[in-house]
Amino acid sequence: MTHEMASDPVCGMQVEPEQAKAKELTADHNGETYYFCGKGCMLDFKDDPEPYFAPGYTPSM
Ligand SMILES: [Zn+2]
Repeated sequence: MTHEMASDPVCGMQVEPEQAKAKELTADHNGETYYFCGKGCMLDFKDDPEPYFAPGYTPSM
C-alpha cells in the first residue's frame, strides 16, 4: 500500500497527510493545505508562513 506523502514546509520532513489530518497538524495558506510533523512546526508556520516560501529558504530541523 502506498501513501501519498507531503513535505512539512518548515522542517522538510515527509508527513503522511492522513496522519497529520488525524492529529490536526494542518494549515491552509493561499488555498493550499500544508501538513506538519508536529505542533511546533505548525505553530511556527501559522505564526508567520512567509519565510517558508522565501526562495532562499531550505527546510531544516
Ligand atoms: Zn516539521
